[in-house]
Amino acid sequence: MIKYILCLLLIPLTSFSQDVTFTNKLVGETLKLFYANVAVKKYIPIVVENLGVESFHGYCMMTQVNQERVILNQSFYAKYKNNKQAIEYLIIHELGHCLLGYEHDPELVIVNGLLLPKSIMYPENIGMEDWYIRNRLYYLKEYFCRTSKEYPICKQK
Ligand SMILES: [Zn+2]
Repeated sequence: MIKYILCLLLIPLTSFSQDVTFTNKLVGETLKLFYANVAVKKYIPIVVENLGVESFHGYCMMTQVNQERVILNQSFYAKYKNNKQAIEYLIIHELGHCLLGYEHDPELVIVNGLLLPKSIMYPENIGMEDWYIRNRLYYLKEYFCRTSKEYPICKQK
């Protein structure tokens, strides 16, 4: 009986899991952008899973060393799978946790004349279409150019 219950619990967790590392063009483009602008050369899977709640968009799973993976919630992915900047926002935020040791930054600053999150590492993504997508280059530079101004994105105007 116990085995039977475990199987029932495991099936929903794994059956929705889908590795999109090589199948989604936008994920691929985001990973290219990320790795072109960091010294890190550790590759981790990006997967889509049904996390059961819509308010949660994704997370970085770091339970074991070398088992890290970025999980995108299926509801977020379904809504934004054709929106390059939204997918980019989430993956870059999560890779910040997984690979760069970045923590959440709740600070607000004036960005292009408006009071907005200082960083893509802001803990909430409410209104992300407005603040991230409209000021994408500012956020990418704030994120990637913290350690070096030599990355390609840091030279973009
Ligand atoms: Zn986060």
